[in-house]
Amino acid sequence: MIDRLRRNMDLGDGELAFLMETDERERDLFEAGDAVRRENYGVDVYIRGLIEFTNHCKNDCLYCGIRAGNSRAKRYRLDADRILACCGEGYELGFRTFVLQGGEDPHYTDGMICGIVSEIKRNHGDCAVTLSLGERSFESYRAFFESGADRYLLRHETASDEHYRRLHPRSMSPGSRKRCLWDLKEIGYQVGSGFMVGSPYQTTEDLVSDLRFLQELQPSMIGIGPYLTHKDTPFRDFPNGSLKVCLRLIAILRLMFPYALIPATTALGTIAPDGRELGLSVGANVVMPNLSPVAVRRLYGLYDNKICTGDEAAECRMCLQRRVEAAGYRIAIHRGDVKKAGPRGVAV
Ligand code: SAH
Repeated sequence: MIDRLRRNMDLGDGELAFLMETDERERDLFEAGDAVRRENYGVDVYIRGLIEFTNHCKNDCLYCGIRAGNSRAKRYRLDADRILACCGEGYELGFRTFVLQGGEDPHYTDGMICGIVSEIKRNHGDCAVTLSLGERSFESYRAFFESGADRYLLRHETASDEHYRRLHPRSMSPGSRKRCLWDLKEIGYQVGSGFMVGSPYQTTEDLVSDLRFLQELQPSMIGIGPYLTHKDTPFRDFPNGSLKVCLRLIAILRLMFPYALIPATTALGTIAPDGRELGLSVGANVVMPNLSPVAVRRLYGLYDNKICTGDEAAECRMCLQRRVEAAGYRIAIHRGDVKKAGPRGVAV
């Protein structure tokens, strides 16, 4: 079954569900994930410097610690100069991609975002800029792209409409989330999507739908991580997602999308001390260490017990390098664009 998945980059729904649920084929699955990753990316691990620039959010996603309704969250915003300073520091540390992520914060107008993006590109012409600011209009996305943004991360969170509605307030719709992803592709961004593993009410069938949606979308990057509980959300009593299921999904994703950029996420590193290394060992090939100022790190609290909230950027960078190398991989210093499939599946 695993050979077939590797050859055809696809399996039936029932077979995919079986691989997610069973222990039995796990070792072979993990080995195949690592083998396909090595075929396409060798031992290279791409790094992205993550700048969490605002935790203000107008949305009220039921799982998220920075939801508008969480009155206990202490809010912050970084101004353009702080963001540019983070990029400058990141550049010195070898980052060639900067990811600006935040809550959906209308304080940052299109004009402000465009100004920040073009300034980063002016300072660091050899770098890629990735935005992750949630849902905006086609025109806004196009303006960001025209000022130099290269990539956009917007997880679909769950592809099942019914499940989506259980995770979000009525003001948010699965259709508009997906519309945004198609808009971003049309404009020309390298698009990243993804989903949480083990979010409340999620079934294995929902996870199969997530894989099917990604097959349609064909994103450059696919980010997944375990759902992790935050004590000040309506989901406070739900358990965390499972590390094992998350690792199996990373391996499955690697076999279905051999060229995709797949991060070993902070959530994976939070659920287990060696979570990110395990992610790399089953097929992930990207890590996204934090470049935000230490003073605000703790405040970007999507979930409880988030790792790396106390370290300076330089310490994070060195710690990660040690971890990546100890796991048998190597950090690559370049923009880390996605490789595309050439004839007979050779990466180009
Ligand atoms: N506002 C942006 C960025 C969201 S934060 C947007 O809407 O895209 C980035 C990701 O963190 C989310 O897409 C979600 O998948 C993840 N996340 C949020 N809360 C989480 C939680 N409690 N556990 C695990 N992941 C979470």
